[in-house]
Amino acid sequence: MRAKVLPAEIAEDFKTSPEHVRVSIAAAMTLGLKPGNFFRNATCDCVNLLENYPAGCYANCTYCGLARERPGLAQDNTFIRVGWPVFPTDLVAEAVGSQEDRVGRVCVAMVQDKRAYPDLLDITRRIRRKSDVPISALVTATLLDEEKLLRIRDAGADIVGIGLDAASEEVFFRTRGRGARGPHSWSQHWEIARAARRIFGPMRVNCHVMVGLGETDRNLVDLFYRLKSEEISAYLFSFNPEPGTAMADVPRAPITRWRRVQLTKYLIEQRDLPREAVEFDEAGMLKHVRAPRALIDACVEEGVAFMTNGCPDRNGKMACNRPFGSYRPGEEFRDYPFVPTEEDQPIIRQQLGVKDLGG
Ligand code: SF4
Ligand code: SF4
Repeated sequence: MRAKVLPAEIAEDFKTSPEHVRVSIAAAMTLGLKPGNFFRNATCDCVNLLENYPAGCYANCTYCGLARERPGLAQDNTFIRVGWPVFPTDLVAEAVGSQEDRVGRVCVAMVQDKRAYPDLLDITRRIRRKSDVPISALVTATLLDEEKLLRIRDAGADIVGIGLDAASEEVFFRTRGRGARGPHSWSQHWEIARAARRIFGPMRVNCHVMVGLGETDRNLVDLFYRLKSEEISAYLFSFNPEPGTAMADVPRAPITRWRRVQLTKYLIEQRDLPREAVEFDEAGMLKHVRAPRALIDACVEEGVAFMTNGCPDRNGKMACNRPFGSYRPGEEFRDYPFVPTEEDQPIIRQQLGVKDLGG
């Protein structure tokens, strides 16, 4: 009798963590698990992995392709808009081990599921057994406590990422918390961020922060100063609506707003921009950034302010550049996965609207 062939998408249901993981397309290409080249020859030095369960994620964040209430099969769903193919964890660990010189970092991302924490430890240990590549744990704070953070460190992670995503408590409640019929709480995320900061050290913990979930620029700027003072990194993400999610019809932040937020964040973090140099309008949106014009010009020429924010490799160079994570190849860049070139500078200058920015 011929064996019944399962449709690929149903078969994927059975390929659950910790035996299997989802791998970002960029990482699968980097490891040679999928064919392809990056637009403009971008490279990707971070292998981003995501736990895989049939339901996707039991949380319900309004912008996320893995959310519980998003219609459709979990395996049709996407996470940050691109498909994440499933591979055996041990195959990925072998590939990382055999290409250690090309891989700057591995990131293991949790979802909301009762298996997610033990499986994070298991996946992290499997990678660690095959290589010394630094590992980030992108955690679901809701499932953790201090003891579990210690175990994540002992399993081999040296950085913890926290998907705070929302820049204010009100936006958090509406997009991730009870206002979205989700399990997450703002105060618990901060408790875990601070506990992780104590355990992993200064700038070894980061909060992912999204621009475009309904927050004001004042919310973002307040958060940048708060995280800086606590020596926690802020990593920016540009909201990009996922089809089928509750926020599918919400437009992205205009490019000028996005560029100005990137620049202001960089000036706060790297150039000690004083708080009183940032002026807001009545709606809480950026009006002026009182920084010398020469400094703004220098930032555009240097380009780093407009690049992806991400965890570093073992030499401190940014590894997690998530090429085309929040825009499609050929669309205007949101965060550049490489240092913007001379040809990119006039575009950035124009998007920033340097003339009206302040100075
Ligand atoms: S917890 Fe993370 S994976 Fe789950 S729905 Fe929210 S953003 Fe998506
Ligand atoms: S910046 Fe990248 S490597 Fe770091 S926690 Fe976030 S997704 Fe993972």
